[in-house]
Amino acid sequence: VIKVQDAVKDRSAESWRVGHGYDIHRLEAGRKLILAGVEIPCARGLAGHSDADAAYHAVIDAMLGAAGLEDIGTQFPDTDPHYRGIDSGVLVEKTLVKVQAAGYELVNVDVTVIAEKPNLREYKPQMRINLAERLGLPADAVSVKAKTNEELGEIGRGEAIACLATVLLKKGERA
Ligand code: MG
Repeated sequence: VIKVQDAVKDRSAESWRVGHGYDIHRLEAGRKLILAGVEIPCARGLAGHSDADAAYHAVIDAMLGAAGLEDIGTQFPDTDPHYRGIDSGVLVEKTLVKVQAAGYELVNVDVTVIAEKPNLREYKPQMRINLAERLGLPADAVSVKAKTNEELGEIGRGEAIACLATVLLKKGERA
């Protein structure tokens, strides 16, 4: 019989860390719509200082949160001209380096995109592949889910797209 306390000890906070991330960007005419590195045909795109890839931004904050590091706005300030128009996939890779330097390796990533339009069904597989490649994970360790907001609120009116991400980290071999 495994005692509850022993089970808790095996999953001690020193070995496993969960983090969550959230991001939302406004949709504006004249911008590209890029989610997890996939350029999606749409009359409007996400507004922002970088490429405004809300999926990558949510993943970055989830990774930073799990590792106990400062958030995306602190690590990659939108006042820094260096990050203007930058491919957020590069920021994902930079974040992975920071997380690894803190002694962690990535276990899995789970992303939810909330967008009224366009329908993201046909783009989800490439989003998953891009995330897996940027993070050095097998595709089955990455999930990308998409849903609408049931026409409710600003997302439901098509004024914005939001993304949520959860990641699990474990202490690396050398840590
Ligand atoms: Mg953002």
